[in-house]
Amino acid sequence: MTLMKIAGYGFMLLLVGLAACTGIGPATALFKPSSPHEQYGQSLKDAKLDQTALGTDWLRASERALGDSLTISVPYRESGYFSASKPLAVGYKLKGERGDRFLIKVETVGAQRVQVFIDVFSLDERGKASLITASKADTNVLDWEPRRNQNYLIRIQPELLRSGQYTIAITREPALSFPVQGKDSRQISSYFGVPRDGGRRKHEGIDIFAPKGTPALASAGGIVSGVGLNRLGGNVAFINNAERRIRIYYAHLDSWYVKDGQRVSVGDTIGFVGNTGNARTTGPHLHYGIYTYDEGATNPLPFIRLGRGPAKQPMLGTSRLGDSVRVADVRTVVRTGPSSETRSLQTMPKGTILTIVGGTDFWLRVTTPVGTTGYVANKATESIRRPLRQVSLPTQRPLLDNADPTAAPIKSLAAGSQLTVLGIFGAFELVRQIDGVTGWVSAQ
Ligand SMILES: [Zn+2]
Repeated sequence: MTLMKIAGYGFMLLLVGLAACTGIGPATALFKPSSPHEQYGQSLKDAKLDQTALGTDWLRASERALGDSLTISVPYRESGYFSASKPLAVGYKLKGERGDRFLIKVETVGAQRVQVFIDVFSLDERGKASLITASKADTNVLDWEPRRNQNYLIRIQPELLRSGQYTIAITREPALSFPVQGKDSRQISSYFGVPRDGGRRKHEGIDIFAPKGTPALASAGGIVSGVGLNRLGGNVAFINNAERRIRIYYAHLDSWYVKDGQRVSVGDTIGFVGNTGNARTTGPHLHYGIYTYDEGATNPLPFIRLGRGPAKQPMLGTSRLGDSVRVADVRTVVRTGPSSETRSLQTMPKGTILTIVGGTDFWLRVTTPVGTTGYVANKATESIRRPLRQVSLPTQRPLLDNADPTAAPIKSLAAGSQLTVLGIFGAFELVRQIDGVTGWVSAQ
């Protein structure tokens, strides 16, 4: 059923009005929207669109995506399809570490510009989702730095009544820039947490060896403090970065190039690499540490580790989005993520019909007729163009619009009807009649 049949033009005009309300504006006394998505959802409710089938489906889809267990590792990209008549939201779970910086970009293909809401949630141990950040209204990109080491869920959902293809790409970069001129994270020679002084203490930073006099650079903007001498660190300095609630520590400097209270920007010279303090007997290196306001010393590596570049997953041909395929192997596993290392959701026998809703050229994101979503290996599937077999219907049966006993009948099929079987799902067969009409029949 299309929306035009449900409500006609009045509905469309209402939606055009809604689209203009999704910018971040002053909150009313009645509710305080914390993301453009929530604001949009509220405007649907205010317009009583939550009482329409489509409005309900849209709100339900956004809730359901929070429970999605689909897990990816970054960098990742895949394409997908959303249809105007069937509201969809997709959730991607990933691990985030303090020091990571994730760039999420959604590109849509189509004549209309489509607003896509990107929302990031933290997931507690029980899987409860709490909103962390969201893309600004009318942008399809989000640049986000996790503040804790835990699981997160990225949800993307287009506004109502838009259909089209999209590509989501998620890449990871370090939150800070590298602190030694001409070097990168491949030149770190001692890591955080390794024993020091015969195990009496742990290394609270990382060491980056470089020739004496190499500039040590501000890896973030902030205010310089603590410029001075200490026994272990020798000539030291801190940068206080209030935005991230961290203090960045530079030690064993040969000399300083900053003063207390000085404001620095990324890339400014803090001092020069040396071997002062307890580094007297080793080669010149920068000892680099990060102290969080709330938890003290933290591993600096994620903050400056090189990203793994752009996502390289081969793209799925967009013409295949929305297609039905069937399981070609004796059986195949629907998984929680696009990798054979992810958890199995369900095993599907040969012939099972799956609908492609997205994915890459190696891993298809599919849904089953009863709405289970997961990933299957593309090579374990085949086109339904070549039929499984021909049958003659033994008794009169309804042709159904889904593989479900409660599905709506499309028509009644007479005994003796000649049918082409395209695939199966549970106790149902997907069949095509001679006139081309397809639907499901109970196989019993
Ligand atoms: Zn060190």
